Amino acid sequence: MPELPEAEVVASQLRARIVGAVLKDCWVGRPDIVRQGLETLDWYRGARILAAERRGKSIILALARSDERRYFIAELGMTGLLLFRPPEMGYHKHTHLILSLDGGLESELRYWNPRRFGRIHLVDHLGMERFLSRRFGLDPLTVPWDQFRQLVKRRRGRLKALLMHQQVIAGIGNIYANEVLFRARLHPYRTASRLRDQAIRRLYKALREVLHEAIRDGGSSIRNFVAPDGAKGRYQERHRVYGKAGEPCPNRCGNRIRRMEGERSSFYCAVCQRKS
Ligand SMILES: [Zn+2]
Repeated sequence: MPELPEAEVVASQLRARIVGAVLKDCWVGRPDIVRQGLETLDWYRGARILAAERRGKSIILALARSDERRYFIAELGMTGLLLFRPPEMGYHKHTHLILSLDGGLESELRYWNPRRFGRIHLVDHLGMERFLSRRFGLDPLTVPWDQFRQLVKRRRGRLKALLMHQQVIAGIGNIYANEVLFRARLHPYRTASRLRDQAIRRLYKALREVLHEAIRDGGSSIRNFVAPDGAKGRYQERHRVYGKAGEPCPNRCGNRIRRMEGERSSFYCAVCQRKS
């Protein structure tokens, strides 16, 4: 948490609200959360925000000042939030960074994270390319079918581990991996490379459906997630297996949802999601 849908909700609110604005000031409360480029902070003061994007679970702002372009990357980690707050509002001790913006905006954008794992990167174009190539696999919302099929066929590991492997497919964590596998009727421990085309097709379809529905619902507010405007997501109300151990299977097969402990808990229906 947050996963791809939550990061997409964050990026889309930023696109709607701060693209075109000029960054007046950038306050850093905890220098150690800026993992790269702290010495370039001055450059960002007075730069214009050109775009707000998501990669995996990271939020990227592209900024320009005269001819030069640089990037601000916020990793949301497990608990990170980007929040619009009025400047006069007092800030919480876990607010690590504040962006003040002009352009009729009555809000600051604050980066809040109670854990230290959150990270900010200030990079130029080359740094951005390095960041992207090192960390992110294919995006599940844009990967073409043929490429997805090949990727699954090549992996000998378990299906759920594949879905959550950020360098292979970016942005899916435990919640959506469980939901996607249930919808695709595939057991989390199936071996990826042994799936038939028909099963990979179901997986591809379920992946996109679940993520799109979750984005439409504002993400899942499990633990602390809220969008920058403070709104909670609603998709947790539509989870079918995640956190539902012991409850009847939503497919009405008569079985109950099981929880299997592993690196992360798996929630599944042993009748609807057969192992072979
Ligand atoms: Zn079932």
